[in-house]
Amino acid sequence: MIRGATVRTRISNHVTTLSRPNDRPGNDEIDALIIDALRHRVGKDERAAKPHDWYTATVYALRDKVIDRWMESTRRTYADGAKRVYYLSLEFLIGRLLRDAVNNLDLTGALERALRTHGFELAELEELEPDAALGNGGLGRLAACFMESLASLDIPAYGYGIRYVNGMFRQRIDEGWQVELPETWLSHGNPWEFDRRESAYRIGFGGEVISDGDGVEWHPAEEVEASAVDTPVVGWRGARVNTLRLWTANALDPIKLDAFNAGDHVGALEGEARAASLVRVLYPADSHKAGQELRLRQEYFFSAASIQDIIRRHMQFHEDIRTLPDKAAIQLNDTHPAVAVAEIIRLLVDEHGLEFDEALDITRRTVGYTNHTLLPEALESWPLPLFERLLPRHMQIIYALNSRVLRDARKAGMDDPAVAAISLIDEGGDRRVRMANLAFTGAHSVNGVAALHTELMKQTVFHDLHTLYPEKINNKTNGVTPRRWLMQCNPGLTGVIRDAIGDGFMDDTTQLEKLNKLAGDAALQERIAEVKRANKVALAGHIKELTGIRVDPDAMFDVQIKRIHEYKRQLLNLIETVALYDQIRSHPEKDWVPRVKIFGGKAAPSYHNAKLIIKLANDIARRINSDPSVSGLLKVVFVPNYNVTLAERIIPASDLSEQISTAGMEASGTGNMKFALNGALTIGTLDGANIEIKDRVGDENIVIFGMTAEEVAEKRANGYNPRAVIEGSPELRQAVEGIAGGVFSPDDKDRYKDLMGGLYDSDWFMVAADFDAYAAAQRDVDARWRDPAGWRKAAIHNIANVGWFSSDRTISEYARDIWGVL
Ligand SMILES: *Cc1c(COP(=O)(O)O)cnc(C)c1O
Repeated sequence: MIRGATVRTRISNHVTTLSRPNDRPGNDEIDALIIDALRHRVGKDERAAKPHDWYTATVYALRDKVIDRWMESTRRTYADGAKRVYYLSLEFLIGRLLRDAVNNLDLTGALERALRTHGFELAELEELEPDAALGNGGLGRLAACFMESLASLDIPAYGYGIRYVNGMFRQRIDEGWQVELPETWLSHGNPWEFDRRESAYRIGFGGEVISDGDGVEWHPAEEVEASAVDTPVVGWRGARVNTLRLWTANALDPIKLDAFNAGDHVGALEGEARAASLVRVLYPADSHKAGQELRLRQEYFFSAASIQDIIRRHMQFHEDIRTLPDKAAIQLNDTHPAVAVAEIIRLLVDEHGLEFDEALDITRRTVGYTNHTLLPEALESWPLPLFERLLPRHMQIIYALNSRVLRDARKAGMDDPAVAAISLIDEGGDRRVRMANLAFTGAHSVNGVAALHTELMKQTVFHDLHTLYPEKINNKTNGVTPRRWLMQCNPGLTGVIRDAIGDGFMDDTTQLEKLNKLAGDAALQERIAEVKRANKVALAGHIKELTGIRVDPDAMFDVQIKRIHEYKRQLLNLIETVALYDQIRSHPEKDWVPRVKIFGGKAAPSYHNAKLIIKLANDIARRINSDPSVSGLLKVVFVPNYNVTLAERIIPASDLSEQISTAGMEASGTGNMKFALNGALTIGTLDGANIEIKDRVGDENIVIFGMTAEEVAEKRANGYNPRAVIEGSPELRQAVEGIAGGVFSPDDKDRYKDLMGGLYDSDWFMVAADFDAYAAAQRDVDARWRDPAGWRKAAIHNIANVGWFSSDRTISEYARDIWGVL
């Protein structure tokens, strides 16, 4: 479980660390940089410039300040010959970067003053920056938090991914239904990025493998060029600037002139169109199948480009490929880059002339793999014929690796079912390549992202692989960067904390614990409550703008924002909302706590039930919000287009954080951490990192309900009868029958018949089984809310005790245990 040894999470005061606030640079310098950028790079004078030009000039000015540190960081790494960390991720859910850079360079005050002399507020220009959504949800956001923490901890690192032209889709709600629109975040250019045309690699697909006496040659049928686009990542107090390197694709032969001249205009441009399709769009599937050929092409494209880049850099500076594990640590964020294992072996064997076993040993010592889900529908596997057609040489390498793994298993005396489970090839039905088994066997470290998840990995998907290689699995509980998720999104709270305990927590979030002994202090409670109220007023204004719905900032803001997925159980929350609505109407004399139920999140476009749940939330909202008998007591809001920017607005304004997944199904969660850090209380199940949050904030400062992971597994195994549960719970029954009967969908009475029918028939996610416990926990939350001092005290204990969930702590553990760089 949790290791005893402490980990360095304090950010060291490196010699290059920025000066402290009292002697920060004046606004003259930053002003001069902005004006210079405006004139010479944007090409406008101050009078002609539009707000967007000022935004662009401001980014250029900051970028100039960043570049010097960037080069300095790179030089320092070369001089030290230090080991570098390479984080391979198909997703980086970055959000906006302006405030991040300004805050981490400690330029907020100077920049605000400079912009004001030109009649602008920094906050106003920030709104012009598009939200870079190159990810789906938690996994992509984790990668972004990790990049920031790596720079803050002064660890030399590169993030590698794809520069999608269209990131996560923009969600519009039309008549309550989700509509997906393309997100065009690059339409006005991207002033943060640097085109690195000189860092380009050929990436092959298909073709044939020819072996003769002295080696193997892969002759791909098609090739595209991957070229690098770099974004600097600034650490806290400018400790270091690392690189996020995203690949874009070009045709080697952009236009086939002979075809063009012969009149085949489409054929002439086909290569370019094929290349462009690789980086065109992010698959919008989170914990869900995305099994198309283009996805595998994307995975290989970015993995191969990254590995070639890493090996090129290694050979340039260290010359001997055998020292790769001493100079490079490659971390695979889920199985999306798992083909990198085969790519490294291929380059070592086919290009550097090593024997297979030595190549495998070097690969394993270099690679670590992070597992993010145990859901069977999210475990990647590819049909063998497709894999072989697209990557014939990699297929051979996977067979060769598999033969060694199976030999190990036989030698260890494993039986046939265990050997079959370990195999990199799934032989049941159509044969498939199992990417998780490839990543597991090609890595020296396999980590889960919360203590429970890591335990379940050992017991379930990786049971037999764990028996064979027991030293590989380890836990690294997720974290979030406190710069974005406290200081930047909640400056009011940050200021109050600073006044209370000093600013040591800004370099070491575990110092927030000093708040514990002040939790009962009425003055501190009052100040924190004032900040929360101001944040709620601001959010109420934003909600009015986005949805037209008026909400009362004095009501409890009860929030569930995350991807829409059945295992996350938005349906449990919605059914309880309906039950509460029924209860208020039948007992109007009771002292109900006014609540605003806030929902937000995107559904994968192909995920029927998730999209229907969005429609249900909107149908319930329409009915409840227009019913005068509950007005002032209950409002329901579905906020459209949930993304990082919206999370930064909603989380500081939340009172109650809904973390109610079916136990055993949420690997970790990171939303749960952000809410607690901003003083919301959690209502949640014993799942993922909720368990560790409870251990730290204390049982009396969190509301836990429902079955444990073990109880869920047992119920599933021993036969679960949801119909009996529904019929035995009058509140649940009334709510489910109301929804199924069309109370919330008078225009289409059968709209939710099947969705509710699924609860009676199988209820895989145990909504019915946990309902009564959840409803009772909500009434417990009401009782706590009626005691404002008690609530505020609990909120302070939450803030005080979740400093451990800083991604600085998480990254320190990876650095020490997996990468060997601290
Ligand atoms: C933190 C975050 C997530 C992850 O939220 P969970 O509740 O852990 O699923 C998803 N999307 C965005 C925009 C986030 O900021």
